[in-house]
Amino acid sequence: QIRVRFAPSPTGYLHLGGLRTALYNFLYAKKHNGKFILRIEDTDQTRIVAGATEQLQNDLEWSGIEIDEGPMQGGTFGPYLQSQRLKIYREEVQTLLDNGSAYHCFCTDNRLQLLRREALRKQEIPKYDNKCRHLTAHAVQNRLDKGEPSCIRFKISDNEESFEDLIYGRISYNISLNEGDPVILKSDGYPTYHFANVVDDHLMKISHVLRGAEWQISTTKHIQLYRAFKWEPPMFGHLPLLMNSDGTKLSKRQGDIRIGHYRDSHIFPLALLNFIVQSGGGFTKDLEKHLKPKCYSIVELANQFDISKINSHSGKLMADRLLEFNRLELRNKIEDAKQISKLIKEVKDLLKSNFSERVENNSLKLDDAYIQNILQWSCNRISKLSDLISKNLEFIWVIPTEYNIDKSSESSIDLLKNELEKEETELDTEHLNAMLKTFCKDHAIKYGSFMRTLRYVLSGLKEGPSVAEMVVILGKKNTIERLDLFLN
Ligand code: GLU
Repeated sequence: QIRVRFAPSPTGYLHLGGLRTALYNFLYAKKHNGKFILRIEDTDQTRIVAGATEQLQNDLEWSGIEIDEGPMQGGTFGPYLQSQRLKIYREEVQTLLDNGSAYHCFCTDNRLQLLRREALRKQEIPKYDNKCRHLTAHAVQNRLDKGEPSCIRFKISDNEESFEDLIYGRISYNISLNEGDPVILKSDGYPTYHFANVVDDHLMKISHVLRGAEWQISTTKHIQLYRAFKWEPPMFGHLPLLMNSDGTKLSKRQGDIRIGHYRDSHIFPLALLNFIVQSGGGFTKDLEKHLKPKCYSIVELANQFDISKINSHSGKLMADRLLEFNRLELRNKIEDAKQISKLIKEVKDLLKSNFSERVENNSLKLDDAYIQNILQWSCNRISKLSDLISKNLEFIWVIPTEYNIDKSSESSIDLLKNELEKEETELDTEHLNAMLKTFCKDHAIKYGSFMRTLRYVLSGLKEGPSVAEMVVILGKKNTIERLDLFLN
């Protein structure tokens, strides 16, 4: 069975890069009827950010990524929080001590720092000199008996190690050139990333590891750990970096890349997912080259997902595509009878939170049929729901109550109201334009200034959409109501 995992450290918010890693794992599981596991790698207690684990799960849930096994969902291979698995790591480390692939190290921080300084002075790569590798069993026991603090290190081989990367092909690397034997269990009893990661991937029966390319070099170390345990390693695929459209590294400095930021900016989850998968390949159809972009559903994306098609060069996010996908997704939702009521509710919430003071005095239009009409009208005109409350469109929802217009236009407005009441059906912009022109001509009213007055009466706006457009948006009934309000 295909079992994949997303294994974030709770050191901050989920951002675009993390979401892509989670998504590709999820799509792979979904395509092959496998399981998607969330494992929280919280062994570096100094870097933990309070609330980050909960936020991560919320963000994943919001994006539509469903977790089969995880800290909240549970599962046969739990606990899924590494800090709750310390006993397991201690037991597993014993196996490596017993078979001679790991050893106790008593070197003090002071000594390690001296080594480091010395190496830098000589312009060499600072690395541990594996001193304690050579202690006799007797010496180790003596020092342990005396209660001397120690950590456990893993003996890395000084040969080149290689593996077949699902995305990059053969990767070979000699770790020992750049580092000494790595610590696998710290003196405080916590494992390091490398060790806990390997132990858990094995115990959780992970079949494929898809993770960021920054871990590729570490994989050669992980392979050695698997070998020391006599375990079969999973398959590894490393995802190339995601970049900004200008080729610079994706980082918070270039704008907010937190998932929460997109949610707060009224971006739909599916639009965000489609935006992320645009660059970097990984799908049977070349999504990037689609002339007419389409906002694919998760099932459609999963069916097309193909690891062998992921590019091995970094992918560039095309910032301008995000709103395009959001507009497509908004249209999908408006046209889908099953989704429209949820959308209406979202609009209501948006209105209530943005015009809260008007909710009480009833000058806010909140009925479902009206909202649905507005949504239909807005279909090709807006990219985000929040565009509906932009200054220019506020009049759709908020009935103007205070006017600063001289009374001289009252009689013309009254006449127009009668004219509108005579119309039996709703009018389109073209007819309205014609009707307004004839009306002004027949009653010898100055067209331009009358239109400005009308716009102001209907919306409280001095500039904005044309009067005809406004009447179409508001509908005949609401238009007459607003004219009435002004007259009384
Ligand atoms: N905890 C690592 C991270 O935060 C996981 C890397 C991996 O997937 O192995 O990225």
